[in-house]
Amino acid sequence: MQDTFQRQINYLRIAITDRCNLRCRYCMPATGVPLKGHEDILRLEEIATLARVAAGTGISRIRLTGGEPLVRKNVVTLVRELAAIPGLEEISLTTNGIFLGALAFSLKEAGLKRVNISLDTLKKDRYRYITRRGNIASVWQGIRAALAAGLTPVKLNVVITRGFNDDEILDFARLAREEPLHIRFIELMPIGTAAASGTAYVPAEEIKGRISRVYPLEPFPDLATNGPAANFRLVGGRGSVGFITPMSNHFCSRCNRLRLTADGKLRPCLYWDGEIDIKGPLRAGAPETELAAIFARAVSLKPAEHHMENGWRQPRAMSQIGG
Ligand code: SAM
Repeated sequence: MQDTFQRQINYLRIAITDRCNLRCRYCMPATGVPLKGHEDILRLEEIATLARVAAGTGISRIRLTGGEPLVRKNVVTLVRELAAIPGLEEISLTTNGIFLGALAFSLKEAGLKRVNISLDTLKKDRYRYITRRGNIASVWQGIRAALAAGLTPVKLNVVITRGFNDDEILDFARLAREEPLHIRFIELMPIGTAAASGTAYVPAEEIKGRISRVYPLEPFPDLATNGPAANFRLVGGRGSVGFITPMSNHFCSRCNRLRLTADGKLRPCLYWDGEIDIKGPLRAGAPETELAAIFARAVSLKPAEHHMENGWRQPRAMSQIGG
């Protein structure tokens, strides 16, 4: 599918649940976010149907996210069904890693290609603080299991916030040098509680500068996954560092994605509240041609770019939008 700005849309992020087992401070309040009723959430077979329709329209890569996708029952069965859909070349997953130790091998066997694991600190107490409840040892079990299962390249998503974890930038770089781990520094966006609190993001250029003064970097294009990050290998190292810059240098002109929320809405853009209901027509028995037309409409509504710098704040958490 091509949108009105000549971008090829071939990537779909599906939030398979709006529930999360953590309460990260920049994402949601301590009490969590208002959740949808179970009836409002897409059933697994509905997700598989929509994925098949999407594949028919030219979507070739799907990422499962949430909420926390691994809290959804039967996630392994879902991955198996998606992996069997003709035209879908890659199924990947973004997770906080807490349940990955138990699930990595079954997910791989079911057809999952790779994982991104969110980890904003390497310090045990700080992890507990930022997530309000998580145990970092479980995440490490998940990372080790992902590597052992071959869910590679294993990427770690790291959001750096000023005055909180910017003292760990070099620790993450060192990790990428010593382990086959690919650190993706993501600029904090004004979404969820981060929008209300005005927490400051650290521009990727600053992070890169701090790393390159200690560890020489060489460009490392991510040809395999073609993501939005600018990537660099640490000379002599095993992994890489990459920078995703939605704030300081947005990559909208290369945007190739649509989002499907847990309650069955197609979102043309993360930072725009327009969404199109596809669950209603699906449950009303719409034929696949009609569902495909809804995908095409969502693509046609993709804005040229987001306008985070204009002061509008996205009050919904990433877990509600499908982060
Ligand atoms: N539960 C899964 C996880 O932890 O990876 C998937 C959902 S989570 C919302 C996806 C990613 O969104 C995480 O890496 C998280 O750090 C990131 N995120 C949440 N709020 C954000 C914000 N305001 N700016 C940038 N990234 C954010």
